[in-house]
Amino acid sequence: MTHDYKLLINGKLVPGASEFDVVNPATGDAFAKCPKADVDLLEQAVKAAKDAFKDWSKRPVDERAEMVGKLSEALEARADEFARLLTAEQGKPLDQAMYEVMGAIFTLRAFAGMRLEQRTLRDEDGNKVIEHRTPLGVVASITPWNFPLILLMNKLGPCLVTGNTMVAKPAPTTPLTTLLFGELANEILPAGVLNIVCDENELGPLMTSHPDIAKVAFTGSTATGKKVMQSAAESVKRVTLELGGNDAAIVMDDVDPKMVAQKVYEGAMKNAGQICVAIKRAYVPEAMYDEFCDELAKLAKDTVVDEGMKQGAQVGPVQNKMQYEKVKEFLADAREKGKVIAGGEALDRPGYFIAPTVVRDLPEDAKVVQEEQFGPVLPVLKYNDIDDVIARANDSEYGLAGTVWGKDLKRAMDVAMRIDSGTVWVNQHLAIDANIPFRGSKQSGMGGELGLEGLYEYTQPHVVNSVPLE
Ligand code: NAD
Repeated sequence: MTHDYKLLINGKLVPGASEFDVVNPATGDAFAKCPKADVDLLEQAVKAAKDAFKDWSKRPVDERAEMVGKLSEALEARADEFARLLTAEQGKPLDQAMYEVMGAIFTLRAFAGMRLEQRTLRDEDGNKVIEHRTPLGVVASITPWNFPLILLMNKLGPCLVTGNTMVAKPAPTTPLTTLLFGELANEILPAGVLNIVCDENELGPLMTSHPDIAKVAFTGSTATGKKVMQSAAESVKRVTLELGGNDAAIVMDDVDPKMVAQKVYEGAMKNAGQICVAIKRAYVPEAMYDEFCDELAKLAKDTVVDEGMKQGAQVGPVQNKMQYEKVKEFLADAREKGKVIAGGEALDRPGYFIAPTVVRDLPEDAKVVQEEQFGPVLPVLKYNDIDDVIARANDSEYGLAGTVWGKDLKRAMDVAMRIDSGTVWVNQHLAIDANIPFRGSKQSGMGGELGLEGLYEYTQPHVVNSVPLE
């Protein structure tokens, strides 16, 4: 692969001020160069977005939406190429990469079809109050490395449809799919409407404090999210924060352990566990604990761990060296505090591979239960009392999502209603849909993405309140 990747600034594909290596996590070797923006290039990108806002925000919404639809079509036409590049830079198996690309296409298409209508809040005795929504200005999109493409589209779709412009910055370890998208977007969007800059973690603070940026749409860790919020406070920027999670799966006592173990396992191991809403701890009734754990261990041992490009690979590498080292710390804690019944080690091969790991008999205060492991490691805990398990699931600074698995749907739904998180899925996992709002509670985030609420986040309500002149 010798593609010459370029930044996108003011309708031009431009080289960076310097460049850095992009590593394939399946080998640990650099396979491409990424252009790196300096402060000057960032300033050019912000200025381009600010200038483009003047025309873009005034275009009819249907015209803007049509272009978002065209972005979706252009992505679809090159879906295979994007999926392969995503696997190369991110590590996920090719079928999961294609799933992300298809999700990105669907998300853009869904937003192209959404509109925020003007509302009449009052129309009586000559007093008319209308509320309409106006765009904010330049939006900074800052994305992480686990789903580089779809997380950008969750922001770009609503940003453009509502009349804002964007400066997007991907994570340093997965910049290439965003840059490739910039190439096709440049054929469709007017100059300056979307600008893309890349960095090695230096530009984020400059973007979140920039006086000409009106909103920061951030997805990443809670620790960085707090910095974003602090930095954005100076100019009272709008922020949406999609942050970390430590989602619990609660297994009810009426399920077939074998069937549900399979579903919980998949929810924990997809994308090598690097999903904000991955199942990060499982709570299982004591009566079926042994059988459930045995089934999980069997599934883990049978999992094909390999390079994402290899046909049949089910779990790929962890995305980057830093995360790989972090997951190894979780493994050390798991080995010390609990009983590892599958995996437990990094694989002895190049790249950042961790064997799918299942740990049982852990105390509730173990690191892997309390913190976000963000890797293919599943702690399994037992419970006897439903109130107790709900309290344990809720005893977290996070509140992103969670799952409840039960045959008696009413009982399962009752438990779901008591889980303190933005989303709870019952008998399914990862049912994220561009038409359904998604947001985290507690330290998992602020504001939301997707659905009509996702559009509102990119607008300012504007009220006009009139009476006749008498
Ligand atoms: P991260 O916070 O380290 O980085 C995210 C982005 O922020 C990167 O682009 C990075 O360059 C940038 N950044 C770094 N320092 C910054 C600063 N001071 N100011 C502004 N930007 C800065 O996160 P990560 O490790 O790339 O991603 C993993 C995390 O993301 C996990 O915690 C995961 O749960 C979370 N996540 C959340 C969601 C969600 O929707 N809630 C989705 C995916 C991932």
